[in-house]
Amino acid sequence: MAVNIALAGNPNSGKTTLFNALTGSNQFVGNWPGVTVEKKEGKLKGTKEVMIVDLPGIYSLSPYTLEEVVARNYLLKDHPDAILNIVDGTNLERNLYLTTQLLELGIPVLVAINMADVMEKTGDQLNLVQLQKELNCPVVMISALKQTGIKEAAQQAVALANRSRIETAYGQFDERVEKTLERLAALLPQTIPAAQKRFYAIKLFERDRKILADLPEIPAAESIIASLESELEEDAESIITNERYLWISSMLERCYLRKKQSSLSVSDRIDLIVTNRWLALPIFIAVMALVYAVAMGNWSISIGTHGTEWTNDVLFGEIVPNAVDSLLNSLKVSSWLSGLIQDGIVAGVGAVLGFVPQMLVLFLLLCILEDIGYMARIAFIMDRIFRRFGLSGKSFIPMLVATGCGVPGIMASRTVEQDRDRKMTIMTTGFIPCGAKMPIIGLFAGALFENAWWVATSAYFIGVAAVILSGIILKKFRIFAGDPAPFVMELPAYHIPSLQNVLRGTWERGWSFIKRAGTVILVSSIVLWFLQGYGFVDGVFQSVEDNNHSLLALIGNTFAWVFYPIGWVGDMAWKATVATFTGLIAKEEVVNTFGVLYHYAGELSETGEEIWSLVQADFSGLTAYSFMIFNLLCAPCFAAMGAIRREMNNAKWTIGAIGYMCGFAYGISLIVYQLGGLLLKEVQFNFFTIVAIILLGGLLFLLFRPYREGKTLEIRIKTAKRD
Ligand code: GDP
Repeated sequence: MAVNIALAGNPNSGKTTLFNALTGSNQFVGNWPGVTVEKKEGKLKGTKEVMIVDLPGIYSLSPYTLEEVVARNYLLKDHPDAILNIVDGTNLERNLYLTTQLLELGIPVLVAINMADVMEKTGDQLNLVQLQKELNCPVVMISALKQTGIKEAAQQAVALANRSRIETAYGQFDERVEKTLERLAALLPQTIPAAQKRFYAIKLFERDRKILADLPEIPAAESIIASLESELEEDAESIITNERYLWISSMLERCYLRKKQSSLSVSDRIDLIVTNRWLALPIFIAVMALVYAVAMGNWSISIGTHGTEWTNDVLFGEIVPNAVDSLLNSLKVSSWLSGLIQDGIVAGVGAVLGFVPQMLVLFLLLCILEDIGYMARIAFIMDRIFRRFGLSGKSFIPMLVATGCGVPGIMASRTVEQDRDRKMTIMTTGFIPCGAKMPIIGLFAGALFENAWWVATSAYFIGVAAVILSGIILKKFRIFAGDPAPFVMELPAYHIPSLQNVLRGTWERGWSFIKRAGTVILVSSIVLWFLQGYGFVDGVFQSVEDNNHSLLALIGNTFAWVFYPIGWVGDMAWKATVATFTGLIAKEEVVNTFGVLYHYAGELSETGEEIWSLVQADFSGLTAYSFMIFNLLCAPCFAAMGAIRREMNNAKWTIGAIGYMCGFAYGISLIVYQLGGLLLKEVQFNFFTIVAIILLGGLLFLLFRPYREGKTLEIRIKTAKRD
C-alpha cells in the first residue's frame, strides 16, 4: 500500500538535510500547483511505496504566508498518512509552536527532535518520555546532519501511517478557552471528522477566513468569540498564540533542562564581529566582492568567467559547431536546414549554455555561504534598508547576482521566504543592469557622450532607482500590500558546510536553469533566426542576404511608431526597434544588430567603436539616452524571461511581470525624452508632453501617497504564568 508522509518543520530546522538523507537522489522537484512555492517529493530510500513530501518551511499554520497556506491546504485536503515533524532541538520553544498545530489536524504525527549532536555538545537534557506524554505523540531524537536515528524515525513514521484512529490532545489551554472551543466545536458541521474538530474550532475562533470559506456560515459563533475576547481583553488570535506558548513553556519546564552557558558560543563570538554595527557592512562587501571576483570577474582567479569564455569560444565557438558541421555535411543536409541547426539552434542554445559555468560557480559559492549560515546574516544586515521599499533583506542577493546576469539573479529569488517579497524581487531584479547590457551603455556613452563617466554611473543609478521606486509603488497596490505577516529572522549557528548539501543545491539550481530557460531560448532562437534570414524581395518570399529585407526589418518598420513618443524617429526608428527586438535574444545582440544594420562588415569590438560615427549621425544625445533607458529597463532577454516563468510558475504573473517592466521602461523613457527634450529645446510641446507630465505626476503621487504598513504580527515567547 502506498504511504504518503509529509515532512513539516520550521525553516532552518534541518528539513532539507533530512529530506535529502531520507530520499537520496530519488527526488522530484517541481512547484505546488500555480504558486511560486517549490514542491519536493521523494521516495524513501530502500522502499517502493513510501513517498515523502517536503512541505515548505513554516513557523505556523496561520493564513498569512503563501507557504503556510500551501502547507495546511496539503495537510487538510490531501490527507497524508502521517506527518514527520522535524523540530530544531536547540530552539524548542519556537519549533514546538508549529507542532502544537500539527497535532490538531487528525493526522498521526511523529516528532523528530533534530540537532541531537549539538544538544549533546551543549549538554542540554530533554526527557523524551515526558515530552511524549505531554504531546500525546511519539518523539524521537535524530541528527539529520550526522544521519543518526533517521532511518528509525522514518520507519516509525511509516508504522504510524497505518494507525487508523488518532486522538487529539485536549485540555492544554486555559479552562475558559477550552470551554469556548468546546462550544464552537459543537457548532461545526457533522461532516468534519472528530479528530479534526479541535483544529476547525480553533480556526473558527481565530476567524480564519481562508478556512471558514470552506464551511457553511456559523452565525452563532461570533457572540461566543466576542464574549471571551472581552473577558480576556485580547483578540482571539492573540489568545490562542498565548495559550500555545504557555502550554509549550509549561511543558518544557517539566521535561527540558537547558545547561547554563557560562560563556558565549563560538557562533555568538563570530557574530559579535560579523554583525557588528560598524563592521558588518565592510565585511559583507569584502565577502561579496570575493564571490563576485571568483564567479564573474575578469581576473586570473575568476574561475566562472574562464569557464564561460571556454564554453563560448571553444565549446560553442569551435568544437560543437565543427562537429555539427561535419555531421551535417556527411548527411548532405540541405542548406536551409543546416542554417537553422547551426545559426539558430546551436548558436542560440550555446548563448544560453555559455552562462552555465559562471552560474554554477556563483551558485556553489552562494550555497556555501548559505550552508555556513552567513547568508542569514546578510539578509539580517540588509533587511532594515530593504523593508523600507517593500522588499526583504533576502532580496539583496538576487539583485547583487543580477549585476552579473539576470537569470541566476531571478533564480536566487527563491531564497526569499515570503511570497509577496519573492514576487516583487522577481519583478524588479531585471532592472539591475546585467553584464550583457554593458555594451549598450558603452556604445552610446562612446558615440554620443565622449565616454563621459556619468553615463554608466547613471545607468546603474537608474537601475537601482527603478527597483526602489517599483518597490515603494507596488506595495501600495493591494496584491502586494499583503497580509500582515509574522516575520522571523533567524540566525542559525555557524557550522562547516556539508559537501552534499552544497553540491546538491548548486546542481538543482543549475539544472533547472538549463532545462527551463533552455527550452524558451531554443524556440525563440529558431523564430528569430527565421525572421532575420527570410523576407520578401520583389514580392517573393525567400531567404535574404540583405537584412533590410528581412521579416525582422518589416516588423521593425511596422512597430516603429510605438516608440515615436519616446523619441525614436527618422532613420534610427526601425533600427532601434529591430535592435530592441533582437535584444530579447540576448542583450549583447543589441550592439551586434546595430553593426549589421549599419552594414559594418567585420567583427565589431564589444562597444562597437567602428560604428560610433554612424550612430552619431542618427541619434541625438537625448534619443540615445531614451533608447538606452528603455533597453536597460524593458523586458529582459528570453533566458531571463524563462527564469521568470520558472520562478513565478504562473502564466499570468509571468506576463504581468514582463508587461510591468516594459510599461515602466516606456514610462520613464517618455518622461525623460519629452520633458528632457522640452528643457533642451529639442522637443516641441505636444500631446505626449502632456502624457509625460501626467505620468510623472502619477508616479510622484504613488511615491508619496501615505501608506499604512500591514500590522506585523510578532511571535513573542511569553513566559508569563497562567493565573
Ligand atoms: P531547512 O531550512 O529546514 O531545510 O534546513 P537545512 O536542512 O538547510 O539545515 C539548516 C542548517 O542546519 C544547515 O546548515 C544544516 O547543515 C544544519 N543541520 C541540519 N541538521 C543538523 C544536525 O542534525 N546537526 C547539525 N549540527 N546541523 C544540522
